[in-house]
Amino acid sequence: MSKAASDVILPGATLGVMGGGQLGRMFVHAAQAMGYRTAVLDADPTSPAGLVSHAHIQTPYLDEAGLAALAREAAAITTEFENVPAAALDQLARTRPVAPSGAAVAVCQDRAREKAHFVGCGVDCAPHAIIATAEQLAAVSDDLLPGILKTARLGYDGKGQVRVKTRAELEAAWAELQQVECVLEKMLPLAYEVSVIVARGRDGQVVHFPLQQNLHRDGILAVTTVPAPNVTEAVSQQAYDAAHQIAASLNYVGVLCIEFFVLADGRIVANEMAPRPHNSGHHTIDACDVSQFELQVRAMTGLPLVAPVLHSPCLMLNLLGDLWFPAGATAQVEPDWAAVLALSGTHLHLYGKTEARKGRKMGHLTVTAATPEAARDTALKAAAILGIAPF
Ligand code: ATP
Ligand code: MG
Repeated sequence: MSKAASDVILPGATLGVMGGGQLGRMFVHAAQAMGYRTAVLDADPTSPAGLVSHAHIQTPYLDEAGLAALAREAAAITTEFENVPAAALDQLARTRPVAPSGAAVAVCQDRAREKAHFVGCGVDCAPHAIIATAEQLAAVSDDLLPGILKTARLGYDGKGQVRVKTRAELEAAWAELQQVECVLEKMLPLAYEVSVIVARGRDGQVVHFPLQQNLHRDGILAVTTVPAPNVTEAVSQQAYDAAHQIAASLNYVGVLCIEFFVLADGRIVANEMAPRPHNSGHHTIDACDVSQFELQVRAMTGLPLVAPVLHSPCLMLNLLGDLWFPAGATAQVEPDWAAVLALSGTHLHLYGKTEARKGRKMGHLTVTAATPEAARDTALKAAAILGIAPF
């Protein structure tokens, strides 16, 4: 490691982030709380992170002048959006420390490479086949049906995915996805879903948050519960070991989230990973002594990583744009925040997006309490007020 890379970047310096979404916004909040200045690169003048950052460079990700400005402003740079072109991160890395690296992000951007990485680490993933050509489509084994056809690149929140039961449906789905490179995954009998968030420092130290249990609805995260109510110690340990191994073998620096399926027979299967803080870690702001965003700051600046501690049982509810359109509403209606905040232990986070749309992540609500039962009880009351279906 060069001397420059081993130097700690101390508060007062500017930290740069590629992407201006809510993850960038919460990163900016954490960095600023610690005394850093921030610079966000995102073309959208109203991006959630751009609105709260010291500097906001409003260019596309691959804009030469924008990247040069970010490198000039920032002492170190991270990303909050996993589809930032790896080439942009590589360009920034010529003059500044970039964490995670373009190479690590590139693996996470491609489901085929991601799965190969899991397998290389000895971590199981769903049986699958890559479909990039008509020949590969024809050669798919019937064992993979029913399955889910997922685009290899650029999918999120269940977008770019089609569930298929028969070969005819598979063929139609590939045509619908414009015959881009896809991965067909066998549909597995999920008992539940969990995720592990790790942070890895430049020195190779890895720490993790207690495992989260995640409920998805329509392919979008709806509820995260910690401690995970259904997970045995043995399953958690397997997931932690797998996550540490996956981060180390990518030579990863920063926060990384790995999503797992837990099958009916107790086996765990890696689903996918995100090279950044993750929606299933938003509770760490209010329920842990160190948040995932602070760990991102620490990892990228070379500050010490400490194993985070969950100080309160909690649930996190995603606040999707649907909540702004209750039955019968003809225009956008603001949810009753005062009623939610009257419940003790509720922590409201809104991302500064003015236009609510169905499925759009507008904010989240974390509920903390002294016991898991009390947290769940309050979360169900908040859900009823907001129009979120019970869980
Ligand atoms: P994200 O927003 O997490 O990036 P994504 O669009 O990349 O989501 P996945 O995580 O691949 O999508 O899938 C979304 C959800 O669909 C999963 O959380 C799970 O509930 C379900 N799912 C995906 N693959 C399978 C599978 N092989 N078997 C059963 N259910 C699956
Ligand atoms: Mg996912």
